[in-house]
Amino acid sequence: MNLADSESLSRQLLAAGYAEEKDLQRADIAVLNTCVVRQQSEDKVYSKLHELREWKTPERTIAVTGCIVKKEGDRLLERFPQLDAVVPIGEYRPFIETLESRYDYAHGEPLPAAGRTGISYYVNVIQGCDHNCTFCIVPQVRGREVCVPAAQVLQRCRRAVAEGAREVVLLGQNVDDYRDPASGSGLAALVRQVEGIPGLLRLRFITSHPQDLEMELLDVMAASDVVAHELQLPIQSGDDFMLKRMARGYQVRHYRSIVERARAAMPDLGLYTDVIVGFPGETEEMFLNTRRLLEDLEFDVVHLAQYSPRPGTHAGEHWPDDVPAEEKRRRLNDLLELQRAIAGRKTARWVGRRVDVLVEGDDELGRPYGRNRQGKRVVVKRARVQPGRMVQVLVEEATPGQLAGSAA
Ligand code: SF4
Repeated sequence: MNLADSESLSRQLLAAGYAEEKDLQRADIAVLNTCVVRQQSEDKVYSKLHELREWKTPERTIAVTGCIVKKEGDRLLERFPQLDAVVPIGEYRPFIETLESRYDYAHGEPLPAAGRTGISYYVNVIQGCDHNCTFCIVPQVRGREVCVPAAQVLQRCRRAVAEGAREVVLLGQNVDDYRDPASGSGLAALVRQVEGIPGLLRLRFITSHPQDLEMELLDVMAASDVVAHELQLPIQSGDDFMLKRMARGYQVRHYRSIVERARAAMPDLGLYTDVIVGFPGETEEMFLNTRRLLEDLEFDVVHLAQYSPRPGTHAGEHWPDDVPAEEKRRRLNDLLELQRAIAGRKTARWVGRRVDVLVEGDDELGRPYGRNRQGKRVVVKRARVQPGRMVQVLVEEATPGQLAGSAA
């Protein structure tokens, strides 16, 4: 989601005549795109702003955008005198106009509008979230759900593919709640439309919600050559009491039935999930239920987080953060270790098989890398392949995090 927002701002800045500069010392403007989903992410923003104090001069501009703007607003300007602007998500025009009055040379030769970097085009199809999970700050900072008309999504994707994108990623906090405002049709229909764009090699969507995922979508995925066989489906806990307290709207049994159905349609499905440990009231027994679920379902990747109370959320305001920090860490490390072993076993099963890899770029050793259809990172050995090409790779090696092999 943040990548898509950065891309949108970048596109508008490029169109206004600015150029991207990765070396901070050579840049005139620094924009921090922020996340506040956890206290740790928020703290990173503050420490970056402190660091930028050294960099700041009267000629240079520091701006902050992203979720922190809704949460902290103009208080940031009082707290950080080095900060010049707080820019609400999506409302970039007034900020760019202010810049235009500061930096005359921005009106020089206009550069082509090409905010997309790499071969992937990230497009928001639904903003905000109508759920109220008791741990989550997203509905406060991103607001209620607003869907982008399918016709607009299609137009943006077609343009991105014409400009060189080979992969489209449809984004939403809860992408399964997507409804085209014009026709009322859902995500499955949108996926069917976008996958038909000539030149598009892969289509992904993030993030799904177990309560809202439609079975029809699984059939669309299974039948398509373009749609990735990959589900980002957060479970959060493997215990029904915890799920109820989190207000997730489903039980473990329902989650298992989705996975069963999805794997029946796509046996190699890449399954990714999120888990929170140490949520208020989580007993050892409840934690062990989550552990058992991870063992049973064998996810490819589990994004693990220790619970951190967020202001304004039901849990943060009403329930004591009663699992001691040390215990949270122990539970986290236990699941990390378990998941590392599971991921190792799962990736090892790919050795000796051929996979289609959409190449994204070169890794730090100069070897082309990309992902297979299930979302696994694959390094292509002993070959030069341009980003955006689809190559078949015979997998020779596997580690928990990636596969490697030769172009077949
Ligand atoms: S569905 Fe996701 S974004 Fe929405 S409130 Fe729950 S955790 Fe937050």
